[in-house]
Amino acid sequence: MTTYTGSCDCGAIKVSAKIADPQGGVACHCGKCKSRYGVFCSVFVVPATDFAIEDRSSLTSWAYKGDSGSPVPCYFCKTCGVNIYREPAPLKPNVVLIAGVLDAWKEGKMGISASVCGDVAFPWVDVTTIKA
Ligand SMILES: [Zn+2]
Ligand SMILES: [Zn+2]
Repeated sequence: MTTYTGSCDCGAIKVSAKIADPQGGVACHCGKCKSRYGVFCSVFVVPATDFAIEDRSSLTSWAYKGDSGSPVPCYFCKTCGVNIYREPAPLKPNVVLIAGVLDAWKEGKMGISASVCGDVAFPWVDVTTIKA
């Protein structure tokens, strides 16, 4: 277990998360991730109790209807718009932390070991190298 820290682009939201070793990052290729990130979204699924936000006053959210039929709240920074985490009901008590928020991710020290929604991945994305 390693504690990782990070922040949104404007610095208003600071996060920390305990993530198991090896890290087990996941690439999600769904339509929502395509519209937000262009290709796929890289995330870590972590217990909510292992995830902390220093000051939630700059955090806002919207929700879409997930495949399970329940709303999926997505939390992002009011100022810079960086996505911080999602909270799909089927994954509770875990949260889905957006990898790009973490400093170690931006420094290239973390990676992806699996894919979800690989069936709708762009044909030019090689999900087999991600070990779907
Ligand atoms: Zn921000
Ligand atoms: Zn997705």
